[in-house]
Amino acid sequence: GLSERMQAVMSKLRGKGKVSEADVKEATREIRLALLEADVNFKVVKTFVNRVKERAVGQEVLKSLTPGQQVVKVVNEELTALMGTEQAKLVQANRPPTKIMMVGLQGAGKTTTSGKLVKYLQKQNRKSLLVAGDVYRPAAIKQLQVLGESLDTPVFSLGDQESPVKIAEQGLAEAKQEHVDYVIFDTAGRLHIDEKMMEELKQIREKVQPDEILLVVDAMTGQDAVNVAEHFNRELGLTGIVLTKLDGDTRGGAALSVKSVTDCPIKFVGMGEKSDALEPFHPERMASRILGMGDVLTLIEKAQSNVDAEKAKALERKMRTQSFTFDDFLDQLQQVRNMGPLEDMLGMLPGAGQMKGLKNMQVDEKQIGRIEAIIRSMTPYEKEHPEHINASRRKRIALGSGTNVQDVNRLLKQFDDMKKMMKKFSAMTKSKKKRKGFK
Ligand code: GDP
Ligand code: MG
Repeated sequence: GLSERMQAVMSKLRGKGKVSEADVKEATREIRLALLEADVNFKVVKTFVNRVKERAVGQEVLKSLTPGQQVVKVVNEELTALMGTEQAKLVQANRPPTKIMMVGLQGAGKTTTSGKLVKYLQKQNRKSLLVAGDVYRPAAIKQLQVLGESLDTPVFSLGDQESPVKIAEQGLAEAKQEHVDYVIFDTAGRLHIDEKMMEELKQIREKVQPDEILLVVDAMTGQDAVNVAEHFNRELGLTGIVLTKLDGDTRGGAALSVKSVTDCPIKFVGMGEKSDALEPFHPERMASRILGMGDVLTLIEKAQSNVDAEKAKALERKMRTQSFTFDDFLDQLQQVRNMGPLEDMLGMLPGAGQMKGLKNMQVDEKQIGRIEAIIRSMTPYEKEHPEHINASRRKRIALGSGTNVQDVNRLLKQFDDMKKMMKKFSAMTKSKKKRKGFK
């Protein structure tokens, strides 16, 4: 995938003491291929690669003390810029209800995302009303009603015999009467862009004057998603994009091109089918994730909403100061297990994507059990000073945990790699802060 390929290029650069212009050229060539293969729009790729090249062969980079790191930084910054730089927030109307209109092709995830938004807003103590505007797809109304019920949120419907425009209008009146904070209009999609659909959407837009028109697109469709976005934006004037199915086997092209092609920000990404699988989109974090620099911030936010804040803060500090011990590792494993798919979580740890061993262990719950057993067989001293775990200690730990010495060795190696990556990551964020401070 894109991430693996980018990480390979980046780690080659990072490891270099000296970087020549030829090294940069080779790296940008590989980046170019990786992006094209990930289905990023070719114009976007061209501009991107030229910008990186221009900045990376500049004197301040090649002559710096850590040119490899500097190039990685340039790539990271340019990737971030490509995706919009700042996090684009959901609009809030001056006077409630804030009106959000969901648009997109059939199957993109409009209805699912409507539910996810309700849940997202509930976490901020905001009440919503859902309006069932898809009168064409069989069972579409029922789908929304079931979602509404599971979220304890009212659904406004006039059945499937009324016009979507009328439903939207009356839905809005209901939202005002009920004094909800948000009203979310679910609409019908078609398999392809079609005049009638667009016309109807325009009429709904006229009637309700939405504060947000969110286009929901399936990230798995790559370039198509970008074309769809361009078209909808031209016709309707979008305020934001939600990229869904980023949990799947997407090549990443849509996330990287859609903003620069449409100039419309990605506001959220869908990471699964469940109602809580919606994340605000942070360009910088996404770039770091692609480059394998980890996404500690998202991990910490998840931790904060799922475990107690104290622990999450401590974790952040430990990652920053590299005083992460095996006790923390164990603690993390357990919390992570409660948080969601382990694979996603570990993917957010700096460098985890590069660690083949860790990657294999992600999906294998048995292996996790083994790791827990190994850590539990360590003495408190060993957990804090893994570097002092010698051959005889390893043997004892293996015996105590019912594993073998290779298992213990592997875990120690992985832990060591992880600490090294955290160190690099924290050095990198430090230098970034410094730079900002000077400006
Ligand atoms: P709509 O036609 O645009 O309303 O699409 P739906 O909301 O009905 O979603 C179509 C399918 O995509 C459903 O099976 C959803 O569960 C699925 N889906 C939506 N968003 C996501 C996502 O972020 N990840 C995954 N894996 N599936 C999603
Ligand atoms: Mg739908």
